[in-house]
Amino acid sequence: MQAADPTTTDSPVPPGPRPAEAEPLETPAHPEAPATQPPAGPTHPVSLSPSRASDFMTCPLLYRLRVIDRLPEPPSPAATRGTLIHAVLERLFDSPAGERTPDTARALLRPQWERLLEERPEVAELFPADTGAQELAAWLTDAETLLESYFRVEDPNRLQPAERELLVQTTLESGLTLRGYVDRIDVAPTGEVRVVDYKTGRAPSRDFEGKAMFQMKFYALVIWRERGVLPKRLQLLYLGGGGQVVSYDPDEGDLLAVERKLQALWRAIQRALETGEWPASPNRLCDWCAHKSLCPAWGGTPPAYPLADSVN
Ligand code: SF4
Repeated sequence: MQAADPTTTDSPVPPGPRPAEAEPLETPAHPEAPATQPPAGPTHPVSLSPSRASDFMTCPLLYRLRVIDRLPEPPSPAATRGTLIHAVLERLFDSPAGERTPDTARALLRPQWERLLEERPEVAELFPADTGAQELAAWLTDAETLLESYFRVEDPNRLQPAERELLVQTTLESGLTLRGYVDRIDVAPTGEVRVVDYKTGRAPSRDFEGKAMFQMKFYALVIWRERGVLPKRLQLLYLGGGGQVVSYDPDEGDLLAVERKLQALWRAIQRALETGEWPASPNRLCDWCAHKSLCPAWGGTPPAYPLADSVN
């Protein structure tokens, strides 16, 4: 199901690439991943993003290693391509309606790749200068294919985003702060809000659709609490597998249920902080986990818990 395209006036656009912190590890081909070069030193979590909430639900140890230990993770071709595609689609709307064509998108690929290299030099290791030229060319061709899929699922000339790559944040009455980056927000002349997220993987099967939609409901909850407007539609644009749109129209009951779930999740995180117990929970993403070699479920030994001094 695809919504009619809302049209709005332009709004300020935050510059720069999507911060890696905002990215979940949802599927092996998903662009979203934690920072590859996080600041050194352990930290106490102070807020919850959809990606990190998803980490904790998937595997508490994964959450710990990413959020508390802040272990670096090497860049992956799929995650980096996702970051690149997001940057291209963000910049595509700099062009006026009528000029947002596949050629325009393709022309953005190289400059956005160059920019990514400047801002996150570690991604250069994916394609070493002496041996990686062919791989880089193939990787960019795959990115072009994903952009072609984008034009199959949506006509960017028929809409004008209200926001792109927007940080949304709210603090609930309980004190829990929720934050995350929304790929795009469209606002219809009637005021109806549509939240849009680009996914470079394939659309999941019905069994796993809920997980992706959880992220969208998280954003909807934050927007609702922050702006007092309940988004009319949540829309996932999957660019893998030729392209597919998945939409959902949330109601207050949906978002209140997500709020309750997040509060419970946060309490569980606080309990883990108090006890120092972050069990490994083997799952279908383990083969793509950057910390598998440290994971006791796979014969590894995690580093000493950095917050051991504060454990009850
Ligand atoms: S390998 Fe699997 S079980 Fe181990 S930390 Fe990673 S996601 Fe968790």
